[in-house]
Amino acid sequence: MDDALKQHLWFDPARIFIAGKWVEPALRGRLPVENPSTGAQMAEIARGTSEDIDMAVAAAEAALDGEWGRLPAFERGRILARIGRLVEARLEDLAHLEAMDVGKPLTQARNDARALARYMEFYAGAADKVMGETIPYLEGYTVYTLREPHGVTGHIVPWNYPMQIIGRSVGAALAMGNAAVLKPAEEACLTALAFADLAREAGLPDGALNVVPGLGEEAGAALAGHRGVQHISFTGSVEVGKKVQAAAAANVVPVTLELGGKSPQVVFADADLNAALPFLVGACIQNAGQTCSASSRILVERPIYDELLPMLIARYEALMAGPALADLALGPLISARQKEIVESFLALADDLEIAAKGRIAPDAPQGGHYVAPVLLADVPPYHPLAQQEIFGPVQVVIPFDGEEEAVEIANGTDFGLVASVWSKNGARQMRMAKRLKAGQVFVNNYGAGGGVELPFGGVGKSGHGREKGFEALYGFSTLKTVAVKHG
Ligand code: NAD
Repeated sequence: MDDALKQHLWFDPARIFIAGKWVEPALRGRLPVENPSTGAQMAEIARGTSEDIDMAVAAAEAALDGEWGRLPAFERGRILARIGRLVEARLEDLAHLEAMDVGKPLTQARNDARALARYMEFYAGAADKVMGETIPYLEGYTVYTLREPHGVTGHIVPWNYPMQIIGRSVGAALAMGNAAVLKPAEEACLTALAFADLAREAGLPDGALNVVPGLGEEAGAALAGHRGVQHISFTGSVEVGKKVQAAAAANVVPVTLELGGKSPQVVFADADLNAALPFLVGACIQNAGQTCSASSRILVERPIYDELLPMLIARYEALMAGPALADLALGPLISARQKEIVESFLALADDLEIAAKGRIAPDAPQGGHYVAPVLLADVPPYHPLAQQEIFGPVQVVIPFDGEEEAVEIANGTDFGLVASVWSKNGARQMRMAKRLKAGQVFVNNYGAGGGVELPFGGVGKSGHGREKGFEALYGFSTLKTVAVKHG
């Protein structure tokens, strides 16, 4: 095992976590863990299969029938709060694991670890505050509603933000009293396993959380189609999201889909450009563009186009990609495959103007999957690079004339995850916020610093259902109406 990795690992990454125990996967398979910054293998993880998913679901069912299912809501909250404190205590280890596993610059990995702790804190406090209603009804009746957990919930997460996605999805599910089976992505599992161990240390009852790494087509598909699962939360690509939804439909199981995006930032001529600038670029190149909510399109009103473009170019030219632990603006991409995908998109840019390119650090290891960030100017709104999710550090600038055209271009993709409006005109801010097709709209900011409290999710091919905030607790519960006739 890689020495740098060993310093931050306090558990055996080649095991799976079922019923509160670290165990061998049933078929004893292994998968390599690659360091995207170097291309070298760092360790091995378990290759969980349907046999392991069966055991994980059985453990989750037993937890619901046992101690976990009987815990009062405030006790569930206390356990989540303890997990959050342990995450904070292990912050440096978690950040290093994520940086090495995902290729994410260390500062960004630290932010993800802080967000995981914050999710635990938020859902700890929320666990005993989900209430039903009493409903006025006919004479002689009392009617009320109960919010109940679904039961066993499946969580299939991608490699780009493991800690944040586990926090929002597993955190909310456990707060509501569900049991969880988590299938992290094969490319980046280490912090999911670390989280399981911290949950164990915090006293989470056995089986309430089970973690089975493995391939998507094996462990992932087995979980999505499992008859013992009552809710699936999937975060990942549109293509796989459709398969997961189809598998869950066979069992008539509800699904939350958090998929991709092509999120626009719309800059009007009256915007404060200096305030906007760091957000315009930062919200795309964060995590080397491998962010579902990356703002990969900048729409600029024509009167300020010639003023803003040089400002964007100067920012791009100062960007540098390098190893995660060097903590530059960008790390490598997750894999050779992801680099090939991004390069194949860039091959479509022949007819476009490359306005600026960042750099790759001269000492970046040859085997790492580095791509220099690229800014494309004057891109036609229906060009494939302005329509498809690239999932790399590639951003397009599109000019527009007036509010109508801004709305048409901003809403003119299959996606609808996040959007922002930059303008000092209050009435325009309100109009645009209403008209933009997105699950979240930001005015004179982008992302609001993450915001664990803020409901998040998409429309169109960005998915459906909401995670984060209080809203997630409704998604991770089912409503029962009780009508009592007492005369
Ligand atoms: P992916 O769809 O390839 O994989 C996501 C997860 O699904 C992984 O755990 C994978 O093992 C699993 N999987 C693969 N095939 C499966 C199958 N047949 N059945 C069940 N599970 C299967 O996505 P990715 O490449 O890991 O992540 C990138 C994508 O995720 C991008 O499109 C990005 O926009 C999206 N994403 C969305 C959000 C959001 O919140 N909306 C957040 C992060 C990433």
